[in-house]
Amino acid sequence: MNFSKTLIAWYDANKRDLPWRGISNPYHIWLSEIIMQQTRVEQGTAYYLAFIKKFPKPSLLANAPLDEVLKLWQGLGYYSRARNLHAAAKFIVSEYKGSFPKSYPEILSLKGVGEYTAAAIASFAYNQPYAVVDGNVYRLLSRVFGISTPIDSNKGKTEFRELAALLLDKKEPGTYNQAIMEFGARYCKPRNPDCTTCIFSDICLAKERKEVHLLPVKANKTKVRERFFQYLVIRYKDQTWIRKRTKKDIWEGLYEFPLIESQHMLGETDLKKQAEWKSCFSGLKPIVKKESRVYKHLLSHQRIFAVFWEIEVAKEIKAKGWKKTKISKLQDFAVPRLIDLYLEQ
Ligand code: SF4
Repeated sequence: MNFSKTLIAWYDANKRDLPWRGISNPYHIWLSEIIMQQTRVEQGTAYYLAFIKKFPKPSLLANAPLDEVLKLWQGLGYYSRARNLHAAAKFIVSEYKGSFPKSYPEILSLKGVGEYTAAAIASFAYNQPYAVVDGNVYRLLSRVFGISTPIDSNKGKTEFRELAALLLDKKEPGTYNQAIMEFGARYCKPRNPDCTTCIFSDICLAKERKEVHLLPVKANKTKVRERFFQYLVIRYKDQTWIRKRTKKDIWEGLYEFPLIESQHMLGETDLKKQAEWKSCFSGLKPIVKKESRVYKHLLSHQRIFAVFWEIEVAKEIKAKGWKKTKISKLQDFAVPRLIDLYLEQ
């Protein structure tokens, strides 16, 4: 699959009709980008239209009193953005005779313009090959490519910047940049994205590993140990197997289903490659009947992600430390709340 072409095809079919779309006026694009930072599209659109109506050229913005600019900005918050707009417009007039600068370094040097905004303007207005990397891009790339390098670390920033540059469609950088931002914002959302119908569902590593909710990673979070449990709910007729937790670990003395603990969440293919799976089912022909949703369980210093795999076997299993029980009797055993939740459902 070609990532960029797939993304652009989705964008062509799904893009929203916004007033700053499909334009090449760098000044208007700049205004839209600054206004839309930390602002919802519904709210920002009215401000954008008011700004280009009142100040259709950089010189008109530069020559307006700051108070007038701030008044028009009122209600958007983050007033430093309005002050920076005004100062940058004055700079454009004094340094570039009122014409918006054309090169990426010049755009980047404008007050209030960071790498993301400079790349957006350079690509949208001039079709220059600069890849945008904003929160939406971090989220999408970290998930599709399974990157857990913290996005707020220098290493992470470099890694994502390089990947974004590599993926950028050099012929249509503007369209590509708009596509990736739009897709990240509307489809690969922070919470509960619809992965089943996603155009990247076949290649998305986070989906395969069930790590969608874990990415992107930020370094400056309280350290909580994350653990990934694959519970094997094995059935033979009306029987299943459980075992008691004996290690000096959480839930000591409680019962649980046979467990494979992994470094990250596993898909069925990877699950079957685990050594414990092989030793547990050696000589049997287990059939995976069902895979549960991911259960998230919080302890004081641990966050547990568990999946219950319902597996059928054609004969009994004899394994050391395992206890056979009727499925209907499971409620009689002391189990962790996590298992209880699964049984209730
Ligand atoms: S499959 Fe899910 S996590 Fe992966 S890119 Fe699509 S929406 Fe995002």
